[in-house]
Amino acid sequence: MSKLNLEYYKKNLEEEKTLLEGQLSELGVVDPKSNDWGAILPGKDDQADPSIAADRLEDFGERSATLGELEIRYKSILEALKKIEIGGYGVCKICKEIIETKRLEANPSSNTCIKHKEE
Ligand SMILES: [Zn+2]
Repeated sequence: MSKLNLEYYKKNLEEEKTLLEGQLSELGVVDPKSNDWGAILPGKDDQADPSIAADRLEDFGERSATLGELEIRYKSILEALKKIEIGGYGVCKICKEIIETKRLEANPSSNTCIKHKEE
């Protein structure tokens, strides 16, 4: 069993974490109680024109969807970083085998091996 270069993955994960925090904070705000992100409406709130209001609502929907995807990614990175600290990083959650290096290279927050990728 080869030993994973944890410092290397940790560095990659932390870089991505910082990047994602930047993207998340452009789209939304974090709730300090739940640590969940919520989208913020762009523009002013006092639009009387219904078409502008509809556009803003559509925009808000898109932001929420993007934010949701980023948040899932963000949380998987936090989880991977936690595993680096407490142990268990790079182990497939399904078969408990060590995840292939090339998979971790492509996505350091992977929690499944190549075989169990889709599950
Ligand atoms: Zn597996």
